[in-house]
Amino acid sequence: ARKLIVGNWKMNGSRQANQALLEGLRAGWAELPTASAADAVAVAVAPPAVYLEQVGGLLDASEIALAAQDVAVADTGAYTGDISAPMLRELKVRYAIVGHSERRKYQGETDAIVAEKAAAALRHGLTPIVCVGETLQERDAGQALAIVQAQLQAVLAHNAAQLADLVVAYEPVWAIGTGRTATPEQAQEVHAALRVLLQEAGVAHVPVLYGGSMNAANAAELLAQPDIDGGLIGGAALKAADFLAIIAAA
Ligand code: 13P
Repeated sequence: ARKLIVGNWKMNGSRQANQALLEGLRAGWAELPTASAADAVAVAVAPPAVYLEQVGGLLDASEIALAAQDVAVADTGAYTGDISAPMLRELKVRYAIVGHSERRKYQGETDAIVAEKAAAALRHGLTPIVCVGETLQERDAGQALAIVQAQLQAVLAHNAAQLADLVVAYEPVWAIGTGRTATPEQAQEVHAALRVLLQEAGVAHVPVLYGGSMNAANAAELLAQPDIDGGLIGGAALKAADFLAIIAAA
């Protein structure tokens, strides 16, 4: 099946850096072997919200889609600082990352909030990329599967009627920005467990991405696992050559 590769820029970028990165991506994209271009892989980038309009313009008429890093629960109203799904739709945003571990940690997002954010995205035709993942402490305590299953189940239960257009990302917290990637076997084990939940919800086709120190050197092996359908890339998405190498590996 077609792999999905999403670059999460996190709180990085500037108007100048964004332009250089996008120009590099578009130039490199044109040179990808056709086997790994549009037919085999779908690609999106998630810049900080203030740059969505700029990046959307730079992506115009390209095959790279636009993603937001977050979405508000509500559609409009007295929610200072929040950005709603209808607003993102106006900027031609296609995906919204929800429940990234950095937002769970620094913004206190709970499973219930993540489920409501996914609902807001789905309500307005944005594809939520729901992030789940255990901490190192939880893994060492043998709780990795239970934690990620509970995180995903919260979203599935809350959105049971409209799950067809969903993406899941498994991002072990201990692998994010640490250079310590999950082994393909470790990742596959979790992905397979998440797949069971998706199957039970009647949406076995929902892509499950891996994220956490994925790079040009380890992408091919991870993406070869049967239940790894793509990648959610942080640091390696900030350099055109690195991101293109991951795309080529997909
Ligand atoms: P890194 O690729 O920098 O580890 O980040 C992964 C991530 O959190 C993507 O959302």
